[in-house]
Amino acid sequence: MRILISNDDGYLAPGLLALADAMSKIAEVVVVAPERNRSGASNALTLDKPLSVFKAGKNVYFVDGTPSDCVHVAMTGLLDYRPDLVVSGINQGQNMGDDTLYSGTVAAATEGYLFGVPSIAFSQADKGWEHIDDAARFALHLVKDRLGELESPFLLNVNIPNLPYAELKGIRATRLGKRHESEPVIKSVDPRGRPIYWIGPCGEARDGGDGTDFHAVGQGYVSVTPLQVDLTHVRQLEKLQKAWQ
Ligand code: MN
Repeated sequence: MRILISNDDGYLAPGLLALADAMSKIAEVVVVAPERNRSGASNALTLDKPLSVFKAGKNVYFVDGTPSDCVHVAMTGLLDYRPDLVVSGINQGQNMGDDTLYSGTVAAATEGYLFGVPSIAFSQADKGWEHIDDAARFALHLVKDRLGELESPFLLNVNIPNLPYAELKGIRATRLGKRHESEPVIKSVDPRGRPIYWIGPCGEARDGGDGTDFHAVGQGYVSVTPLQVDLTHVRQLEKLQKAWQ
């Protein structure tokens, strides 16, 4: 098995190193990841400049681009084969509910999925890297032992509580919850007296009820949400089709 690994925290992030180390126990691993932290990059592709790829070690490359760029370049020219699996992460901090739209971690996995390769985004809920090796151990368990039920290709969004392995309660298949509106932007002034704005923190869970990713992680379970890419709102589409026929 050959696994392509990327992330959005940058190629030196402890979460990526732990994930690569874990996956190397069962596969040949290649890392293609951004040169710096690109969290929140979503699915952006760099179209206004060429991308440079640098070799950082055996089977480790970093790119001066986004997470989607990294997987895109790997799939379409850098690698002379298609990997069997793309894994992204392990992100520092959760990617649940609406976070998935902004997440570069999820985007890197989505890019693999768009090329027809099964792909998994891993995030560790609660920042800090205290139990990152435990999260990586669970990621290995998931990849090795828990994917038999799925049709291929699949796209999974996995959130792992920041707990020691023995304290993880188990695994739950979940749907995405929803967040409240984000907190307001934080206004300040730069040293030249001009106004600046920091994007504020995301909102708390609004739909964090039973069955959601928020709920599972809150209870100490690893949350696994199968994702799809089609954004079509079928109910609204049917209304318009009826109205406009
Ligand atoms: Mn990140």
